Order: sequence, then C-alpha cells, then structure tokens
Amino acid sequence: MLSDEELTRYARQIVLPQLGGAGQQRLKAAKVSVVGAGGIGAAVIPALAGAGIGRITIIDPDRADLSNLHRQPIYRSRDEGEPKAALAAQFVRRLNPFVEVAGVERAIGPDNAAALLEGHDLVIDGTDNFATRLAVSDACVGLGLPLISAAAAQWQGQVALFTGKPCYRCFVGDAFDADDCDNCAELGVTGALTGLAGNLAALLAIRFLAHAGEAEPGRLTLVDGLNGTQRLIRIVADPGCKACGGSVGRSAISPS
Ligand SMILES: [Zn+2]
Repeated sequence: MLSDEELTRYARQIVLPQLGGAGQQRLKAAKVSVVGAGGIGAAVIPALAGAGIGRITIIDPDRADLSNLHRQPIYRSRDEGEPKAALAAQFVRRLNPFVEVAGVERAIGPDNAAALLEGHDLVIDGTDNFATRLAVSDACVGLGLPLISAAAAQWQGQVALFTGKPCYRCFVGDAFDADDCDNCAELGVTGALTGLAGNLAALLAIRFLAHAGEAEPGRLTLVDGLNGTQRLIRIVADPGCKACGGSVGRSAISPS
C-alpha cells in the first residue's frame, strides 16, 4: 500500500492513466541495480529514486573526480575523492526516504557480476567500457535478468533493453572482452548527452517496470547529439552468441 505521503509525492505520475496506482505499486515493488554511477548513472539514479523505485543498488568502484562534474551533477565540488557509490546512495536518501538504497564500492567483472546482480528485477548498465558491459550482460543472460544497456561517447548515445535473445553480446560481438577502448577520457563526451542517454534508460526502465507503454526488447535507440536526431535499429540475435546462443540463455522474464 502507498501511504498518504507517497500518494502526494508521486501524484503527478500516478495521475498518468498509463501508470496509475497499479504502476506506482509495481515501481515500489521493484529492485533495480544500477551499474556505474558516472555520467549515465548520474541521470538514471535521480530519475529512478524520484519515481519511487522500491530498492536501488548502486555499484561503482570509483571516487568522484573534478573531471567528472561536467556530466555527473549529483556530485559536488567538495565531494572530490569520496566514493561515488556512497555519495550516490546519500543523494537518493536525501531525495526520497521511501527508497531503500545500497551503495556497493566494488568493480564488477566476470567473476562477481552474477553474485552482485542476483536478486534484482532489472539491471541498468551505464559503465564506460565494453569488457565490463559484456560481463554484466553475460551475467544477466545467465540469471534471466532483464538488462537496460546505455552508453554515451562524444556526441553519440545508445540505449536498449535486452531480455534474453538478442543480448548485448549479440550486438557488439566478442572482440571487446578485454578492451576498454571507448572510455570517456579518450573520446570525450558532453554532459547533456550522458544525461539524455541516462534519462532515456530511466524512462525505459519505468515503462518496463510499471507496464506502461512500449518497452520493446532488442530495439536500440541511437541519439546523435551533434545533429539533434534520433533513430531506432533492431538488434538481431546471433545464433553463435556465446552468451545467449544455444541452450545457455534463458528467455525473458517480467517483473511481477
Ligand atoms: Zn547474445
């Protein structure tokens, strides 16, 4: 049940016919893991916390740095050197005390991804390198967990929901398992674009969890921040994919 305070807090979204009280209850029941509290995560985390996701786990091993602040506005100048997972969790508690939040100051990889992600209803990955993203995706496929993968570099952003086949590995292939060639330090990125990609991911998460509108798996939204355009492409399952091909991958699950 939603308390009077919650009904007031979420009134502007409960009034939406596609969401309503039932959708709000689904958001409250949801457990979401946000991997990466960088540019993408710094947009995803406030959007999810504000919307009343019941439990949010924030996984990030890094500490806030001055060079993060142009695209990570949940941190302050004085936060430099502090762990992002704890700072982001504190941000959530201050924004919405109805959200249970945990900050996990750990790097995620093939060895621990399944253990860290198990028990959630949805994973949102906003990390900045292919090796981590592939480890997160493989763990989600193995656990049968839906994954929203969001990325931004330079002026391009991309967001997609994966629920089994195709998976993120079908999209990028196996060449990047030991590679972090797309990180922001090398390529550069605009803060407004990471915010846009993060908010697109959060919006997709809310649609998916609340059963509102369309949340089509395997459909990738590509944003070109330099031209101000957006297009959709359909990701095709790779029958030889080492994550979801064959009998390893499980089919999609939906949150209750
Ligand atoms: Zn696959």
